[in-house]
Amino acid sequence: MAYDSNNVFAKILRGEIPNSTVYEDDEVLAFHDLNPQAPVHVLVIPKGEYVSMDDFSKDAPPEVIARFFAAVGRIARELGLDEPGYRLLANCGAHGGQEVPHFHVHVFGGRPLGRMIARERA
Ligand code: 5GP
Repeated sequence: MAYDSNNVFAKILRGEIPNSTVYEDDEVLAFHDLNPQAPVHVLVIPKGEYVSMDDFSKDAPPEVIARFFAAVGRIARELGLDEPGYRLLANCGAHGGQEVPHFHVHVFGGRPLGRMIARERA
């Protein structure tokens, strides 16, 4: 899938839509989700144009991937989530339920998060 530069996270990166930033460096931006699903719900995105985990893992340079996931862990620690813990989620594509076609990792925390995944169907 080609990258759509009109997606909402691209607009956030260009400063066209406001966001509540929790972390930023040259390659990564993290901000609070507009519709939080937990007391802490932060989205971490690379600044590069990647649609999903699929092309990020395939096309991003290994050092960019490494710095991205190091930043995710650092952000979780800075949010005070390392103890008692947190959950990461990256929806990928249609079956993954991905709505915004710019790769992002959800960071959830602030309460016990229950089962790993909703069990509507096996
Ligand atoms: P996905 O389903 O693609 O993994 O998750 C997209 C997430 O982006 C959703 O949790 C949704 O609430 C969040 N979101 C959508 N639009 C905006 C926005 O304009 N600002 C922020 N901060 N979050 C957004």
